[in-house]
Amino acid sequence: MKYISTRGQAEVLDFEGVTLTGLARDGGLYVPESIPTLTADEIRSMRGKSYSDIAFQVIKPFIGDCLTDAELKSMLDETYGTAFRHPAVAPLVQTGANDWILELFHGPTLAFKDFALQLLGRFFDVFSARRDRSLTILGATSGDTGSAAIEATRGRDNVKIFMLHPKDRVSDVQRRQMTTVIEPNVVNIAVEGTFDDCQALVKAAFNNHEFRDSVNLTAVNSINWARVMAQVVYYFTSAVSLGAPDRSVSYSVPTGNFGDIFAGYIARAMGLPIDKLVVATNSNDILAKTLQTGTYASGSVNATLSPSMDIQVSSNFERLVFDLTGRDGSKVQSYMDGFAAEGQFKLDAAELEKARALFLAHQVDDATTLSVMQDLYARTGYSADPHTAVGVKAAQECLASSTSPVITLATAHPVKFGAAVEKAIGHVPALPEHMADLMEREERMETLPNDLETLMSRVKAGS
Ligand SMILES: *Cc1c(COP(=O)(O)O)cnc(C)c1O
Repeated sequence: MKYISTRGQAEVLDFEGVTLTGLARDGGLYVPESIPTLTADEIRSMRGKSYSDIAFQVIKPFIGDCLTDAELKSMLDETYGTAFRHPAVAPLVQTGANDWILELFHGPTLAFKDFALQLLGRFFDVFSARRDRSLTILGATSGDTGSAAIEATRGRDNVKIFMLHPKDRVSDVQRRQMTTVIEPNVVNIAVEGTFDDCQALVKAAFNNHEFRDSVNLTAVNSINWARVMAQVVYYFTSAVSLGAPDRSVSYSVPTGNFGDIFAGYIARAMGLPIDKLVVATNSNDILAKTLQTGTYASGSVNATLSPSMDIQVSSNFERLVFDLTGRDGSKVQSYMDGFAAEGQFKLDAAELEKARALFLAHQVDDATTLSVMQDLYARTGYSADPHTAVGVKAAQECLASSTSPVITLATAHPVKFGAAVEKAIGHVPALPEHMADLMEREERMETLPNDLETLMSRVKAGS
């Protein structure tokens, strides 16, 4: 399998190459040259299989010959057999006649990011050893990527990780999950700015090729293709549980960087019968607006009860735009140049129509988020975290008359956003046992201004 850049000017790489590279050198994102497909019989054969076995079927075609079947199998067994605390790995919970919640928070850091990052940590190990080099991971987090990436790489000899988070804009549990990891290869940096500022710093560091090469920079954000790929799997496991390929399903996905929902788009392109994908956003609604008007325009970021979606620049949207343009790298380049210069670009009518045929969108404010949490708890006894609640509401608004099952992705455990949950339902579920003393552990982090030069010299100085 070969991977190409959405801007058409970067070197073509294999799976090992894209995993270690992250952002393409032309500023674009890597995507597979063509999307592999599974037949209805192959999808039917997944019924009753373990998460890890289904993962093998879904992921294998993307890996090419970068790993042997035995290597890939054992990595998947380790990842999904041991790191997750539910025997189904990604269990479905029924909350209404046609409504389901897909719980993606049974991994070590209690958010869906573990699905990809636990596996990515293992890819880094194998590929860096093969090339005999140590890696520097530089990432930006709106909360959950950071802890999942740190958990996946802590204590590894050949990996240093620098994780940026927007100062005072992540929840206490989110911050402590990062800053209480005091292994020497982990550096937590609070940036005086927003998540978009953190993400822009990371992108700028990647675009400085001299810096990038001098420290072997690698990405863990969802610009890294391997993350999107790993997330495709739970669309298959959940849809197959509810009757795919003989019945289609729809998903509502709490969305920030467009990585998780883009994985659903890939699952559909691989042959999974997905009817609609709902982009569920909080008041940071750039994507909902884009689907309404065709104009992708950044605005200022609002702090909300669902901070992991407080994002106005959704990196992975570029991967969709690439497909909407008929995979025209130079057109994507001109859109992104327009975005860099003027803060916006406009899809043409045909592109917008293509996007609307599959994607619906709904924006949910904080007051509604709280009332949905309350209502769901009162009706079913289910405690949803605020991100999941945004998804539940968007599903109600966009898919009320759906005849196919409606699955909302539960992207985080309610305990991660305890303050909001308490406000909605009057109490917070307990921290799981492995994290019971989280609020007492020692923290370690540094604070830096929103400045590229300062950041690069800090990273060069090492951990
Ligand atoms: C990261 C995250 C999201 C957004 O996912 P994207 O892939 O960035 O769209 C939603 N909810 C939670 C809890 C998250 O951690």
